[in-house]
Amino acid sequence: MEIVTLPCGPIQANAYIVWAKGSSACAVIDPGEAGLILDELSRRQLTCTHILLTHGHFDHMWGAADLRQATGAKIYVHPKDAPMLEGRGQVMNAMSLGMKPCKADVLVADGDIIEAGGVRFAVLETPGHTPGGVSYAVHEEKTVFTGDTLFFESVGRTDLGGDLQTLLHSLFDKLYALDGYAVYPGHEEPTTIHHEQEFNPMNIYRKHPWFN
Ligand SMILES: [Zn+2]
Ligand SMILES: [Zn+2]
Repeated sequence: MEIVTLPCGPIQANAYIVWAKGSSACAVIDPGEAGLILDELSRRQLTCTHILLTHGHFDHMWGAADLRQATGAKIYVHPKDAPMLEGRGQVMNAMSLGMKPCKADVLVADGDIIEAGGVRFAVLETPGHTPGGVSYAVHEEKTVFTGDTLFFESVGRTDLGGDLQTLLHSLFDKLYALDGYAVYPGHEEPTTIHHEQEFNPMNIYRKHPWFN
């Protein structure tokens, strides 16, 4: 499996271009801007067929409408975050900043398998940062794309319409079950589940009386 990381926009959300070696089709996860991604696709002679959104925040979907228009790819998102693509429930008034609204094409749910670019992505519902946050796991490659649920030694904010208890359940119950997986997060550098099981500061809550 090939992965190209392109940090996009002022908040540097990671867009990932993902495909199986030899495939001319690919998936793009979280296109935070379209131009950068389209340039990379044409340089590599790849055709984007699937736009997979980990969640609806503007920094992860800013380029989705333009990328779909240029490629005909379909936009995948969880139904609970789908309204954000049309500007509702964004962390700031993204529409007034020039965000292009778009409607989702396909709504995803836990356990769905999406075949794109020769890669099988399994949808894992990992809410908490947003109500409809998902991760995309590629079990054959022991790899997971976690959006803003899990970062290197950190997790996403939960004070903008999220919920910390819910996020910690996503982390401890869902993501930590992916033993030995590589983690490609929504911002900054990759990590591994093993590293986070050891060093993520949120681990103090695992046995905390507040956490249930
Ligand atoms: Zn983000
Ligand atoms: Zn976010």
